[in-house]
Amino acid sequence: MMKRSRLMSLLVGGVFCVAVMSLYRMLELMQRAELQQHREKPAEQVDQGLSRLQQKIDRLEHLLNDNNRMVATLRDSLLHRKASWEKGGGGVNVSSDSAHSRANALPGCRLAEEMKDGTDGVQLLDVYDLLPFDNPDGGAWKQGFEISYHDNQWANQPLEVFLVPHSHNDPGWLKTFDGYYQDQTRHILDNMLVRLSEDSRRKMIWAEISYFSKWWNEIDEQKREMVKRLLGAGQLELVTGGWVMADEANSHYFALLDQLMEGHQWMQRHLGVRPSSGWAIDPFGHSPSMSYLLKGAGLRDMVIQRVHYAVKKHFARQQTLEFLWRQSWDSSPRSDITCHMMPFYSYDVPHTCGPNPAVCCQFDFHRLPGRRVMCPWKIPPQPITEQNVQERALLLLDQYRQKSRLFSSPVLLVPLGDDFRFVESSEWDVQFSNYQKLFDYFDQHPELHVKARFGTLSDYFLALHQHLSAAGTTLPTLRGDFFTYADRDDHYWSGYFTSRPFYKRLDRTLEATLRATEILFSLTLAEMRRFHGDGHLVADFPARDHFLHLTAARRNLALFQHHDAVTGTARDPVVVDYGTRLFHSILNLRQVLQSSAHWLLLLDKSQYHHDQLKPFMQMDDVIAAQDSLPQKTTLTLTDEPRSLIVFNPTEQLRTSVVSVVIDSPDAHVVDAETGRPMAAQISAVWAEPSKASTEAFQLDFVAQLPPLSLVIYHVTRASVGSAQRVQYTFNRHGNPLTLKSEHFQVSSLEGPEADAPLSLSNKHVQIWSSPESGLLQKLRLQSGLVRQVQVQFLWYGTTSSRDKSGAYLFMPGPEGAQLYSSSEPPLVRVSRGPIFSDITSCFRHFTHRVRLYHLDGHAGRSLEISNMVDIRSEINRELSMRLVSNVANGNRFYSDLNGFQMQQRRTLAKLPLQANFYPMSSSAFVQDSVSRMSLLSAQSQAVAALRPGELEVVLDRRLQQDDNRGLGQGVTDNKLTASLYQLLLEDRRGGAQLEEPQLNTCRCSPT
Ligand SMILES: [Zn+2]
Repeated sequence: MMKRSRLMSLLVGGVFCVAVMSLYRMLELMQRAELQQHREKPAEQVDQGLSRLQQKIDRLEHLLNDNNRMVATLRDSLLHRKASWEKGGGGVNVSSDSAHSRANALPGCRLAEEMKDGTDGVQLLDVYDLLPFDNPDGGAWKQGFEISYHDNQWANQPLEVFLVPHSHNDPGWLKTFDGYYQDQTRHILDNMLVRLSEDSRRKMIWAEISYFSKWWNEIDEQKREMVKRLLGAGQLELVTGGWVMADEANSHYFALLDQLMEGHQWMQRHLGVRPSSGWAIDPFGHSPSMSYLLKGAGLRDMVIQRVHYAVKKHFARQQTLEFLWRQSWDSSPRSDITCHMMPFYSYDVPHTCGPNPAVCCQFDFHRLPGRRVMCPWKIPPQPITEQNVQERALLLLDQYRQKSRLFSSPVLLVPLGDDFRFVESSEWDVQFSNYQKLFDYFDQHPELHVKARFGTLSDYFLALHQHLSAAGTTLPTLRGDFFTYADRDDHYWSGYFTSRPFYKRLDRTLEATLRATEILFSLTLAEMRRFHGDGHLVADFPARDHFLHLTAARRNLALFQHHDAVTGTARDPVVVDYGTRLFHSILNLRQVLQSSAHWLLLLDKSQYHHDQLKPFMQMDDVIAAQDSLPQKTTLTLTDEPRSLIVFNPTEQLRTSVVSVVIDSPDAHVVDAETGRPMAAQISAVWAEPSKASTEAFQLDFVAQLPPLSLVIYHVTRASVGSAQRVQYTFNRHGNPLTLKSEHFQVSSLEGPEADAPLSLSNKHVQIWSSPESGLLQKLRLQSGLVRQVQVQFLWYGTTSSRDKSGAYLFMPGPEGAQLYSSSEPPLVRVSRGPIFSDITSCFRHFTHRVRLYHLDGHAGRSLEISNMVDIRSEINRELSMRLVSNVANGNRFYSDLNGFQMQQRRTLAKLPLQANFYPMSSSAFVQDSVSRMSLLSAQSQAVAALRPGELEVVLDRRLQQDDNRGLGQGVTDNKLTASLYQLLLEDRRGGAQLEEPQLNTCRCSPT
């Protein structure tokens, strides 16, 4: 029986933050070393991969040593700070001395007060304060304005147009990844080879390496050589180089990095190239965490598209659609990346040649009469002939010139493509031949002062940078993010921050399992080589199979970062396909964990034998299917000790509560190495809310886990009454209860007792909850700070007007949220034990639990909140959980971006309700000068702070209709869905500030 440690940890202290970051840095370094020359035979690939991994492990160990030294230094400096504060009398004033040492102590974590916001460049938050969001009709460019120019404007500097052919291939949406590949993608790439090779002036860009690598595996050597020739000649460019075009709202940066490394390594290994330009035309809003990773991966330039139409218009007016995107915390240009924001509504041809879609559509020659696609503006394209070429060329040039007026340089980017374009051979003909005639016409008429050609993204950016440096100008700097996206009217894309929450959580489960497995497998190989001394692996150990499992898991996680996958915006069967991939990878990784731990723990290594059918160890839970939650397996106890193995995949000492289910109400746990008994408690496993199981019991004990360690515990059946059992109190207003439990002390509150607030406490915090609902009402910290924190549940419906909520959009009715109410009062169960105590409220649509651990350190300072939600009986409803506090934060709150950085938010009354929801991938907080209330989350969800003191997360949504963004269905595949949080209240007065480092601009995350 094996138990992995709980992978979600709290981010509270700077020390931990740095330690976690360094580990990711190490992984990054390890992966970078992977970028080496490579041979084609799979077996050799794996051998090479393993030996490279070996080198990297040595490096990892080296880095670990460095890291330990760094952690020690940090600890010292924290102690020093604490001492100097105590010496200073503990007053409110922080001396400049300690502020200085604080800045020195935490490299990478900058404090908010050190940042001078907006001293250089544009802050998007300020833009939001400025904009009226009035959405007037702009004429031909509906969301913009009339653009004027003089014919002689380009007389000195001709207009330089780069027409960039592209085909947007979603790795799963209406069809599965494989479905699209078979029906469309492989034909696109096959035709690309032929059509580009025909004429050296033709170009094409490609973004999704998941598809490209699949196609590569199927083509012969001759075609592969053609690919390399086209890349070498600059006719084909691989842009971004990610496994997918990743979602930037729900994705955690670990997974963003994973999909980027998978793609970049593939490119380096098979093609020997690396990308230089980013291309993100379809993700529903954009995050600076992505631009940071792209910059770190060596990219110089990037393109984004889905930005709020009012922001686009503002930037277009200011000619700042091209800017240097800088990180909020960075006061140097170190993190800057050149970013081009597309100005119009979409990335299709009608919205890329210029401001008038009715005109631009006529230059999408795939829509020529007789072909399958048409122009909705009712004016079809015409084939370019000698007779019409002048009129057509001038019509197109007018659009190019208008578009160019929105940019500060005469270099113009014009994408040519759409979703799954260039499938048929004839589409290549009509696009390339008609445009070439127009370009030739421009060339023959120098008085027009325009040079137009097919180009790649790099062609465009090279020309842009040449122009900028010749002109001696630089682009403006911008900080902030592009959430929440609206494409028109009040259609805000904040629904997908929560859509399909079951899979948003499964995503994190795979992510955590992958990280733990990569570490344990690497340590195992390192030990094996040391053990043998000759660098060989153990013959019976399935290193090769395991390596393939790890690769497949990385790629499945990478695939799920696609902007229709983790977003929850794919069709039902496609969601099942993604879920099955995540599920299988979790199962396969568990095999790798089991055999790695088995080998590492054997004293006599010659005893090792691998048998997949009879694994030496079992996991402590079973996941039965892609859409089910894990179920604990029951461990049968005897007088002989059973071994529990716990792995700490972090490089910190961890105190974790380990939880297993056993068949006896009496058990004894000892540390196998020292024989030391562990503090433990036995709780009931509830067959029904008020009926305890008589066959299964929950054993919890406190495990002390050194960094990167496997620790063995022995569990035995103990004499009756020897283990501490939890005591239960039930409360249900109105209805008498029938309580059943033969092994636990169970009581029911009666009389005036039943109306008194329920209270739990440990040495750090005391909480009070409502006796009727069991929901939290108030917190008190050891420092004396008291805060109202009321937990509420609410329903949102959808508007009665035509455009309703769907997978992408959140379109609540004008009444907003309604407080959750139930005809029957909930059953409230209070448990009190030596390791933890909790209050569970069983409502019809959800079970909500608040747990307090009786532990030292931050585990004891925060409340663990868990919800089990089931809204399958509902129609057009969304369930949210709201924390209502008396923190005086005004309209400001903070939410994280990709678990990588915190972003300030402002709740604005001029925006509709749905516009004030933001993505929360791992945390959010509100604060005033006295206190900070943080909600750390184990999964991505929508978050808002609609009124001062509030924080609200949307738990699940069930919507019967399509929201007209192409999906063609609602979201009705809801499941029993779990969500998990830590709620942390911090006292910010005086010395407490020293104990709890600032989070504002810290580039780190709970993992
Ligand atoms: Zn897409």
